[in-house]
Amino acid sequence: MSNLGRPDYQQIASNYGITVHKVEVGDETWNESGSVHLNRSFCGGIDEIVIGVYEDIDWEIASFFHELGHCITTNTFEGDYLKFHIELDAWMVGLQEAYKYGYVIQPSTLKFMIECLESYIGWEEREVRGYKNEKWRLH
Ligand SMILES: [Zn+2]
Repeated sequence: MSNLGRPDYQQIASNYGITVHKVEVGDETWNESGSVHLNRSFCGGIDEIVIGVYEDIDWEIASFFHELGHCITTNTFEGDYLKFHIELDAWMVGLQEAYKYGYVIQPSTLKFMIECLESYIGWEEREVRGYKNEKWRLH
């Protein structure tokens, strides 16, 4: 299995009733909030994904499938799970789903994925104020 470059995110997302917005350098979203979108993506509820601007195309594709994982996971994480577990689940669900579209994560992207996950270790101790009430969540 090999990757074929950037997939059509919206075409894939439409299979799940999800709308995708891709931020590009210089567009309205970028000019308003800039670097918050650098190497980061977001999901809004379970039906919207905002893909940021990435230094590495494979980071971007992997992140799309990560956000897709957040949207389509059937795990509810009721109870004492950490945010770390929710993030790990989204990677596992998303990258598993990616097989359907011929995408496998590049070995060089593993470090990026681990750094994303590491950023959530200890998250509960430095919880973002109002996080639970915000529609748009940094993932
Ligand atoms: Zn996430």
